[in-house]
Amino acid sequence: MEEEVRKILEENGVKQVLCAFTDVRGYLMTFSIPAREFIEGNTFDGIGFDGSSIRGFKTIEQSDMVWMPDPKTLRVIPWENDPLQKSAIMFGDVYEAWAAEQADCDPRGYVAKRMEKQLKDKGLSVIFGPEIEFFLFEKIDPTRLYWDLWVSPNGGAGDSWGPPRVMPESRELEAGWYVIRPKEGYFRPPPEDTTVAYRNELVHYLEKLGIIVEYHHHEVATAGQVELDFKPMQLVDVSDAFYLYKFAAKNVAALHGMMAVFMPKPLYLDNASGMHVHQSLWEGEPFKGKNIFADPDDEFMLSQKARYYIGGLLEHAKALTALCAPTINSYKRLVPGFEAPIYICWSPRNRSALVRVPMYHRKPSAIRVEYRGADPSTNPYLSLAAMVAAGLDGIKKKIDPGDPIMEDVYELSESQKRELGIGELPTTLRDALDHLATDEVIQKVLGSHIFDAFMSIKIDEWNQYCLYITPWEIMKYLDI
Ligand code: GLN
Ligand code: MG
Ligand code: MG
Ligand code: MG
Repeated sequence: MEEEVRKILEENGVKQVLCAFTDVRGYLMTFSIPAREFIEGNTFDGIGFDGSSIRGFKTIEQSDMVWMPDPKTLRVIPWENDPLQKSAIMFGDVYEAWAAEQADCDPRGYVAKRMEKQLKDKGLSVIFGPEIEFFLFEKIDPTRLYWDLWVSPNGGAGDSWGPPRVMPESRELEAGWYVIRPKEGYFRPPPEDTTVAYRNELVHYLEKLGIIVEYHHHEVATAGQVELDFKPMQLVDVSDAFYLYKFAAKNVAALHGMMAVFMPKPLYLDNASGMHVHQSLWEGEPFKGKNIFADPDDEFMLSQKARYYIGGLLEHAKALTALCAPTINSYKRLVPGFEAPIYICWSPRNRSALVRVPMYHRKPSAIRVEYRGADPSTNPYLSLAAMVAAGLDGIKKKIDPGDPIMEDVYELSESQKRELGIGELPTTLRDALDHLATDEVIQKVLGSHIFDAFMSIKIDEWNQYCLYITPWEIMKYLDI
């Protein structure tokens, strides 16, 4: 493996390697090592760094940490052609000083790898196929988005209150980043879909990075919301791929003077970006073994274990939300009317339910459940591991998810929802954190260090937000 790394670096004329890991929040962190060090030096023994400046890692007095390369994750960065800048990226795990043991603050090594190992010890594996949505904007002055608090970019999603609106034609065209008429980008061909050239280019680079895209399109929201879906992979690989995807999306956008935005809800009164996660549990290796979720005799082709897994997802949904939707902004997505889930129930086909069972193909290998409660601000090493733990808890405790909901839940009255026993996801980050704080199954996946660090970072974020006086409040109450 080490020899292989040296060979790839040399053959591709790589000058620098970006050494990657994530903080507890889920931000990608990198530092650079000249490729020569990998070729001639002792880099494979680990590289020391200061862990005290990484959110959720360690305090000053224990700040010496070691980054251990995971050689099989080496990828040459395909859009970089300048020989002086030629770079590769490689993921690694974080160890304590002297590389004595795996650090308990490392989402990848401590949470995701541990979960994968637990599964393997039981003879199981899980695969995930995330649908990651994001916005492609011309490089914009953030105050223009801020302005959207006052002037809806899409002419409104039908509500009647609020600030004056202008139709997008004038203002957005003038700003230079409005390209498609409101709500009309979804599935339009070029030239109406002006994101297609970008997506094609991104698909090309993602494949060079080892991420095989199966499907991509303009999404429902205004002006350049896109989605690219890739082949399912196991927990650690899919989480690495999530970061490569974001890294590529942002860099390819930047090459064209644009910005790929993964903030869940950047536009007032328009659809947000979600990250639906398709998942299936396998006996043995994925695609080689047996898909435990499939039962050809069932009306939805779902096994009893799949139903219990869904039961576990629903049971732990409130705590999961803290990890799946970990920003203040995430909760601006989790509102009715924009195809984002808010009701804790499951359903085949129905896009208003939190857990959907896609019914596209009758092949047993394609049977899966789709958890719709995550968004692209998540740290997938944590949230995907937590989803599996929730599902396995459902199987272990035989948690019945109840009957599937066949109606559009957005349209049900309060009393109908109560009758059907349909609960709601937390409506704020604070609410979600309170649920995480009482859910021992999910806490156990994180371990005590990451749980404490996550809670403290996020409560701090919540408190900062509460102190802030928004333009909406000024508008609403200044003349009270
Ligand atoms: N953007 C929606 C969400 O926030 C999903 C839209 C879709 O893919 N059907 O989840
Ligand atoms: Mg999709
Ligand atoms: Mg979508
Ligand atoms: Mg979906």
